[in-house]
Amino acid sequence: MAGAGPSAPPAKPVVGVLALQGGFEAHERMLHRLGARTRQVRVAGDLEGLDGLVVPGGESTTMTLGIEREGLAGPLRALARAGTPILGSCAGLIMLDSEHLGLMDMRAERNAFGRQIRSFEADVAFRGIDGPPIRGIFIRAPWIAEHGPGVEILGEVEGHPVAARQGEMLAVAFHAELSDDERLHRLFLESVEHARASAASERR
Ligand code: GLN
Repeated sequence: MAGAGPSAPPAKPVVGVLALQGGFEAHERMLHRLGARTRQVRVAGDLEGLDGLVVPGGESTTMTLGIEREGLAGPLRALARAGTPILGSCAGLIMLDSEHLGLMDMRAERNAFGRQIRSFEADVAFRGIDGPPIRGIFIRAPWIAEHGPGVEILGEVEGHPVAARQGEMLAVAFHAELSDDERLHRLFLESVEHARASAASERR
């Protein structure tokens, strides 16, 4: 591209959304509203050059099979090792735990609120997000059953951790993308911008 130096980042961050299965389109809509570009990720090559990644809700068993089929586990771990911010929601939280991709030092309990009837909304007082609590939409949601000292718990429901951060990983048990509340995605995009800025300054 004429005029732009090799290290000039594009104007908008590019956030991948893992699109093997599940609710990736609602995340894309939310990210577009906040001015990010998105790219649906189905194969390892789709991860190239991403500034961030969302692992959406869905069914963690199906998503695990898709990741195996496409050989995505290694490339996803490499993306995380490179310091790329990753947001996991619901099944995405499960995918980040130590029994799945192993990107966070925690163990998620699947369908922890009960399998069928326990789809509900709850206010989550979210550490690091100013203003009123986040209205969380929980659909057969997990909670964080155990976690190591490196995992910071950011919110709870009924005394169970439902939101956490470890380094550039952010995980929530609920569906923030289905509400009008943009604050969680805004928080995620702030870490995307931050990581992008520090990668750019390392290249200089
Ligand atoms: N119950 C699903 C699982 O265990 C997660 C549900 C969701 O992502 N809404 O994978």
